[in-house]
Amino acid sequence: MKNATRIQHQPPPSLQDGNEPLVMPIYQSVKFELESLRDTESAWAGRGGYHYSRCANPTVRALEEVLASLQNQEDAVVVGSGLAAVAVTLLALLSHGDHVVGFAQTYGPTRGLLLNTLAKFGITHQLVSIDDHQALETALQAKQTKMVWFESPTNPANKLADISVITRLAKQYGAISVIDNTFAGIEAHAEYPIDLYVHSLTKSVGGHGDVMGGAILGRQELVDQVRTQAIALGPVMDPHTAFLVHRGLKSYKVRRRACCENALAVAMALEADKRVARVRYPGLQSDPYHRLACQQMPDFGSVVTIDLHGDADASRVFADHLELFSQVASLGSTESLIVSGPLMQPHGLTAEQRIWADISPTSHRLSIGLEDADDLIDDLKQALTQALGA
Ligand SMILES: *Cc1c(COP(=O)(O)O)cnc(C)c1O
Repeated sequence: MKNATRIQHQPPPSLQDGNEPLVMPIYQSVKFELESLRDTESAWAGRGGYHYSRCANPTVRALEEVLASLQNQEDAVVVGSGLAAVAVTLLALLSHGDHVVGFAQTYGPTRGLLLNTLAKFGITHQLVSIDDHQALETALQAKQTKMVWFESPTNPANKLADISVITRLAKQYGAISVIDNTFAGIEAHAEYPIDLYVHSLTKSVGGHGDVMGGAILGRQELVDQVRTQAIALGPVMDPHTAFLVHRGLKSYKVRRRACCENALAVAMALEADKRVARVRYPGLQSDPYHRLACQQMPDFGSVVTIDLHGDADASRVFADHLELFSQVASLGSTESLIVSGPLMQPHGLTAEQRIWADISPTSHRLSIGLEDADDLIDDLKQALTQALGA
């Protein structure tokens, strides 16, 4: 064999039996060879074996398996972003003529898919308030509904959905229930009869703000439908990304615990500060969702949403004077982040739905990171002094 040929045909490394890498290997290959045309046909038909990484890849598959087991579900599909997970789920399970019930408080880009993308395909929706169970039941009675889509806690207002009520009503009226579980975390709500769980892995699972991903988890039959759609549409996760998410996952529980502890400390300090009109954190006894959170959530999360006294201009001064909180999108990172009211104004809602969404120009969503809690509190207090005086 000449060198030009040898370069193209080097065999992959082979390890003796029982000799495994300790850290997840990255199968950075688009293509996988099989022994025969018969085996290749079988792999292409989805009957075992890897052939092309848009359909399956061993590193990506390993991530799917660990995520499914953490959420206590039969299977999972991972894709290239959280919003891809939302979109693929909606497109996989809904057809022309179907109806979805969602909530006005839902993450803006998810609402955008319901309002714009699905509408183009003749899929209708109704948005009710996450707090109004009667309106949910009325909506389900009024129109045959294929899916109820909800979040808990919601982004950005930090409201909790009563999962027992929502899943019971969805089942009673023959609808699939899907939760976006990003805020609650990768292990949360496993004991509820939810049909599908969707996550943005970009947030606390990846955890370091350097990688994007999404996951859909649930029972086999539904996950298979979602996987078929994901392969058809192509928003795959690449193996290097899967490796990074997997690496983030290794420290997920300790990071999550530390961020939640910091969030509680920040929430308590802000609650005691008279310049802050409202602190929305389910870990506070004063929070209207506290009792539900104690029943439902494994922890209270790392997001604290606040509303300041004073006008919109004072709120801008506050945001601009923070030194440790970066004004960037995203959450669940190691650094603390802030997104302020003008950036969170909900689009495409009626006046009534905007009241339910409960976000004003003086609202701020804080994502609490791993800094020292006292430093974070000092930073918030000095910015409050700049904005609203001592
Ligand atoms: C961020 C987020 C998403 C979208 O995830 P990306 O990875 O940014 O695409 C979906 N749902 C919720 C609740 C989120 O916070």
